[in-house]
Amino acid sequence: MQHENGFDETSGSSGDSSAWLSKRDFLKVAGFAALGLAGAARAADRAAKGERWDLIVVGGGNAGLPAAIFAAQRGAHVLIVEAAGALGGTLFLSSGQMSAAGTKLQQSMGIEDSWQLHYDDIMRISTGTADPVLVRLAVENAAPAFDWLTDHGFKVRDGHPLTGTTHDPYSRPRYAWGYEGGRSILKVLAEQLQPLAEAGKVAVLLQTKVMGLIQQRDGSVRGVVTQDQNGASTRHLGRSVALTCGGYTENAAMYEKYEGVKDYSKMTYPFSQGAGYELALAAGGYVRGGQNHVPLFGAVTPDYDYPAPMMANVRHFPGDRPPWEIYVNKLGKRFLCEDMRSHTEYERGLGAQPDERCWAVFDDAMFHAMPRLVDGGFNSPWSDQDTIDAFASGAPNFFRADTLEGLAKSAGIDPAGFAATLEVFNAAQAGERRDPFGREHMPLPIAKAPFHAIQIQSWNLTAYAGVAVDGQLRVVRKDGKPIPNLYAAGELLGMGQLMGKAVCGGMSVTPALALGRLLGHSILRFDA
Ligand SMILES: Cc1cc2nc3c(=O)[nH]c(=O)nc-3n(C[C@H](O)[C@H](O)[C@H](O)COP(=O)(O)OP(=O)(O)OC[C@H]3O[C@@H](n4cnc5c(N)ncnc54)[C@H](O)[C@@H]3O)c2cc1C
Repeated sequence: MQHENGFDETSGSSGDSSAWLSKRDFLKVAGFAALGLAGAARAADRAAKGERWDLIVVGGGNAGLPAAIFAAQRGAHVLIVEAAGALGGTLFLSSGQMSAAGTKLQQSMGIEDSWQLHYDDIMRISTGTADPVLVRLAVENAAPAFDWLTDHGFKVRDGHPLTGTTHDPYSRPRYAWGYEGGRSILKVLAEQLQPLAEAGKVAVLLQTKVMGLIQQRDGSVRGVVTQDQNGASTRHLGRSVALTCGGYTENAAMYEKYEGVKDYSKMTYPFSQGAGYELALAAGGYVRGGQNHVPLFGAVTPDYDYPAPMMANVRHFPGDRPPWEIYVNKLGKRFLCEDMRSHTEYERGLGAQPDERCWAVFDDAMFHAMPRLVDGGFNSPWSDQDTIDAFASGAPNFFRADTLEGLAKSAGIDPAGFAATLEVFNAAQAGERRDPFGREHMPLPIAKAPFHAIQIQSWNLTAYAGVAVDGQLRVVRKDGKPIPNLYAAGELLGMGQLMGKAVCGGMSVTPALALGRLLGHSILRFDA
């Protein structure tokens, strides 16, 4: 299937980016391929002479590119090593929703906001589970990074910023994205990088992976070992190394190890394989925050072969659509108040269920009367007729039966638990008792055959565990001591640190950009 954004999911994660970037994308990044050729020659020359780079950036995505740009603008000589055939990383796929407080855009619209209010919102939404040091660093630096984008041609969509819709809202309108999602950000980064590369300040190695770090006996990092697409290994020396090589959402084993649950979804960047975690661990660092894992709610997958892509999405949020259906787990039990208006509670609720799975259950009267429940997934369209057809054909994840017991059995739900749940729900709906979850919106009972269930699976876009760093983005050991010359930024820091046990709008894209910029702009020193 060819997504709107050019990502061809049929060709999968071959590791050969030319195979999965569409022709249109490849043409767009052709300039970078030329830079890659020039960069390879310069990098080989420096490596042969044993010359050091001021900074080696491992991964040219949303965090790595600003780190390289701002360091080069300060006079540093920078090498970017990128595993894929193009720079940009997850920005090729990302919706690119950003949140920044106190921006010029907000000021021009008379919106009063500050990093402190942004910080307070994140701590409120995450119920205090996010890392105070990293959140503060990220939100303090979000507005300068956002302003830098808008100063260089980034245009936000009409009507933005918003308080947020797909995640629990912020207290101020500070949530904005460009017309082409993550690509709108990448466009600015590419335009800013190009002259620096042409001036010889930045060299880019494409289709080259960092396989290891060069470390001295005292633990200080002095460079990287790379492997190119032909398997050739090279040592590149550097005063500083920035790990900006993203998360691990495409590495199912690592996902399970760090998050403690299976990886059920496959919709992220094929190169998000967790290389930075292995590099940091090998250098003496450690990984934290996986206990804050929280999934996204509502994926309907095309089959049961997990990790699976999202085929459709359930419109569960009561703010958009008051619920008629109920949600039950495989024990047949409800686990949340379907009409409470918190994305976080839905996400945490699903995360606590066996297999992070539940079923939307409704009867035939609801099926014909309720507002649309199933919608398109990420870039995959879905119509009401698709839902009708899916039930009629018995498509995976769509169940229909003439009895509640038959429905439970076919869906894999415990029939006894299910029957008990339905009895209580219907009694509450009839006003015979209070709903145990306090639900108020229940227009119909679940009483008219045939009965319907749609199986819903968790999904994810980001890694929750992250490499531990201090307030200067230095990778630290468990004793808190920094590993000299080794830095990290981006998704590699883990959403469990930046969002806590919640999903806070824009708090992956923006911190990656802001902290990558911060590294290159002011943290790194090039005079050692
Ligand atoms: C579909 C989708 C939608 C999203 N929407 C949003 C959103 O709206 N808002 C939000 O805040 N977040 C969103 N995210 C998450 C966000 O886009 C990412 O977390 C963020 O962009 C990551 O930036 P990064 O620089 O850390 O990593 P990346 O952009 O992934 O860059 C890492 C780079 O490192 C390279 N690399 C990996 N291993 C190596 C190696 N060994 N050697 C050299 N290079 C290597 C990769 O190829 C890649 O180019 C979304 C994610 C997805 C998948």
